[in-house]
Amino acid sequence: MGQEEEEAVRGKLEQLKQVLAEVEDLEMATAVLYWDQQTQMPRGGAAARADQVTTLRRLAHEKFTSPEVGELLDALADHERALPYDSDDASILRVTRREYSHATKLPRDLVVEMSRAAAEAYHKWVDARQAKDFGIFVSSLERIVTLSREKAQALGYENEPLDALIDLSEPGFGAAELDRLFAELRETLVPLAKAIGERSDRVSDALFRQRFDVEKQLEMGRAAVRAIGFNLDDRGRQALSVHPFSISFTPDDTRITTRVNEQWLGPSLFGLLHEAGHGTYMQGIPVRYRRTPLHNGASSGLHESQSRLWENYVGRSRAFWRFFLPVAKAFFPGQLGRATVDEVYAAANIVKPSLIRVEADEVTYNLHIMIRFELEREVFAGRLAVADLPAAWNAKFQAYLGITPPDDLVGVLQDIHWTQSFGGSFQSYTIGNVASVALCRRALADHLGMEDEWAKGDFSGLLTWMQDNVHAHGAKYKPNELLLKVTGEELTPRPYLEHIKAKYTEIYRL
Ligand code: ZN
Repeated sequence: MGQEEEEAVRGKLEQLKQVLAEVEDLEMATAVLYWDQQTQMPRGGAAARADQVTTLRRLAHEKFTSPEVGELLDALADHERALPYDSDDASILRVTRREYSHATKLPRDLVVEMSRAAAEAYHKWVDARQAKDFGIFVSSLERIVTLSREKAQALGYENEPLDALIDLSEPGFGAAELDRLFAELRETLVPLAKAIGERSDRVSDALFRQRFDVEKQLEMGRAAVRAIGFNLDDRGRQALSVHPFSISFTPDDTRITTRVNEQWLGPSLFGLLHEAGHGTYMQGIPVRYRRTPLHNGASSGLHESQSRLWENYVGRSRAFWRFFLPVAKAFFPGQLGRATVDEVYAAANIVKPSLIRVEADEVTYNLHIMIRFELEREVFAGRLAVADLPAAWNAKFQAYLGITPPDDLVGVLQDIHWTQSFGGSFQSYTIGNVASVALCRRALADHLGMEDEWAKGDFSGLLTWMQDNVHAHGAKYKPNELLLKVTGEELTPRPYLEHIKAKYTEIYRL
């Protein structure tokens, strides 16, 4: 390439990066409005806020899907091929190309119709929950299913519509592959949950089910979050919200929220560790990726791997409680003063087949996801009508967890996800659970003695390992590319199942 040509390519790349930077500015401004809405805004602000967010989203979408971006991507295709696959510039072009293709394949009318249908479905879902009657939600959900199918058609897929929707949040994954993953999980987890159920008297979580002052819970949660290395001071914030979440505007400004239950220590402590886990990912993404499409995690599932890592692998480990029990006792001497590490470790790991996904334990959680995934697949295949979802839902709960929901509120109506889109979101929770153990085991093998450090309250070895091996790449790799690079194999349930089996066999003396 001649010098002039090289300069022309560089100019085009800079031009593209400028557009992408402005798109991200608009998206991050939208995110700030969302944070404010969830944590501060009085109800009266809702209508104006909806207008503001709609305008910003439209501007970002128009900017990103403009013909200019398509022309620049075309003009830079040869340049991209000539660069090393994992270079920053090739990765920016590759990820932009993928997102541009998704964004431009969806007809504008379909996008508008989806958001209108989602708003209506949300209200019907709230009404149906109030009445504990799925019937109220059926026609809205049928509309969401139809539109989700149209969305899948527009995006294109190889084998089944669900593939296209899964690929949006987990690039490279398809329904058949996830079906195999769930089959392997089912084979071990269903009998394990049953065996634990027969010995449920061996573990009690009464220690965590006492009255715990709300302010003190928050203070203790912050102590835990600081200990694992989430920067809560000059690069992070924490607030209360109805539904806990995490959000980041730059790696240097990352926020997490929590909710507190005065009668139960679990939700605030483990919920904060969970959100702080997401937060460490966002704080760990290199600042040079800011204002590019790499300023993100590898996928929703990989993001979830980081939250589950700190919530479960670390936060529910014996080593963690060796360090943290004295800290917790200082906050709650009356409630925890006489507790031993073994007692608190058992209480943190109680397993109980339950109806509600967000309250599920490590052993049964993936069964909740599997049920949703199987139902979505059956509906898309035309083997199950939307109106028959409650009966199918309840039958699967009985088969996998041995319990039947007494009503739709604690059954098929519990999640908000299907008001937005049918298919393509739940699988990420399981990918996260499974990947968290694969990654953590790799870290433990690379850095011997890490658990002894945890027992002393030092989590820097694990955090640094995740920063170097996972966070440092931002959205450069697809989830399986990243897992292969870091752990030596693509997503496999083996490490997860070994870990869960060994851990709970010991706790429940199976
Ligand atoms: Zn999460």
